[in-house]
Amino acid sequence: MREYAKFYIGGRWVYPVESRTLEIVNPATEGVCGRVAMGSAADVDEAVAAARSAFPAWSATGVKERIELLQNIQEEYGKRSADLAAALTEEMGAPASLAGGFQVGLGAGHLAKAIEVLGDYAFSEQRGATLVVKEPIGVCGLITPWNWPMNQIAVKVFPALATGCTMVLKPSERSPFTGQIFAEILEAAGVPAGVFNLVQGDGPGVGVPLSAHPGVDMISFTGSTRAGVEIARNAAPTVKRVTQELGGKSPNILLDDEDFAGNVAKGVTSMMGNSGQTCSAPSRMLVPRARMAEAAEAAKDAAAKTTVGDPNGDVVIGPVVAKDQFDKIQGLIQQGIDEGATLVAGGTGRPDGLAKGYYVRPTVFADVTGDMTIAREEIFGPVLTILGYDDVDHAIELANDTEYGLAGYVAGADLEQARAVASRIRAGWVAINEAFDFDCPFGGYKKSGNGREWGEFGFHDYLEIKGVLGYAPDVADVPDSA
Ligand code: NAD
Repeated sequence: MREYAKFYIGGRWVYPVESRTLEIVNPATEGVCGRVAMGSAADVDEAVAAARSAFPAWSATGVKERIELLQNIQEEYGKRSADLAAALTEEMGAPASLAGGFQVGLGAGHLAKAIEVLGDYAFSEQRGATLVVKEPIGVCGLITPWNWPMNQIAVKVFPALATGCTMVLKPSERSPFTGQIFAEILEAAGVPAGVFNLVQGDGPGVGVPLSAHPGVDMISFTGSTRAGVEIARNAAPTVKRVTQELGGKSPNILLDDEDFAGNVAKGVTSMMGNSGQTCSAPSRMLVPRARMAEAAEAAKDAAAKTTVGDPNGDVVIGPVVAKDQFDKIQGLIQQGIDEGATLVAGGTGRPDGLAKGYYVRPTVFADVTGDMTIAREEIFGPVLTILGYDDVDHAIELANDTEYGLAGYVAGADLEQARAVASRIRAGWVAINEAFDFDCPFGGYKKSGNGREWGEFGFHDYLEIKGVLGYAPDVADVPDSA
């Protein structure tokens, strides 16, 4: 049983102003596994004040000093990796292999990338007589979700630190343990007091006052489109910058080619990973209509290999995060059946032998049409929909027929065709044959948000751009490119 009664503000562990706590339920056991203090607007005020007073000194540090600090964090992060992984398994049900390998590994990858980018980053550039300078934006409010907790904290905190910003982190109330351990890591690494602050709490209690706070210069948010809209609205009166990484319903276009069954299997595996709770999950598989039966068969086999169970055991997926998500997913599976899609694998109800825990059966629907609810709504569970296309133009049309635009996938041996298809998908992150790259900008078109994270592009939103005219008055000619 974990007990986290304090927040990390101004370099100290402090009790919240009001005493309110939340019990955290382990989704694999449905039992309480921890208790966490819940903050309020008063805690946000203190954390923002601490971040404001730390800003002048931290923003004035040089690249060398910031790199040294990030390297210290790297060392402390390595020491606590196993703790982070155990916390992830408890709070959101990630299987040990996924938590320890991929979830914690992504955090380490973003940290290494932030150090590398910072080493070469051009914070100023002379253009003719003008100097263009990139300066840290100030105090950042970082609001993160529960589905990839360590990844989402990492893609915000490391670039914010690297660019000279100070910050207040509010992790999801569903995954507070990782945030707490992360704050301990930063403390052990010697982050100066007030540069990084942690306040736990829910949306109304902490997220809303943080978004509206006049002392906050920028909000970086990852979560649902619903909350993203609310945050933008609450932030508007103070005209702060808001970046939003929101939901998705991403297409996976399988080209008509030889290893079709292999690509179907890969698509199923990517969809089911993390119990389908991935914003960029390839949840709509688009296959040539003539190969629908073949796709259904291959997907059925792949779904059967997606073992579900105790996340501490040797399984592919654990439970989904909580009862409300479990119920929502069950409702959507039923809706798929009611609307006439062909259920190929899984279905409603718990998997055999798993009476306790929020376990969902890996589910595949074939013969899905673009107007069905399961083809339009983000399900956020291990549920794949397969839609048929007539030709490549039709595939693109289906792919883009969504209010979202976070990710897209193309699989096929013909690289030229895959590139042409990728160029026509209206999404911020399009992977050909499951490629992966820490340098690739990540973010959405349309209702999937704005702003970009990861690698060098992940620095931009934390920087203001200042032009200093007359900086070099003796340089008369402005280059053509200016
Ligand atoms: P959520 O929007 O309910 O919560 C996310 C965070 O926002 C939490 O910390 C929550 O406490 C806070 N919050 C909620 N309401 C708020 C408000 N009004 N003001 C300020 N803060 C508020 O989302 P979730 O259920 O935690 O996460 C799942 C969603 O996140 C899915 O839609 C998923 O697609 C999306 N997501 C997107 C990305 C991406 O990079 N685009 C990554 C992961 C998850």
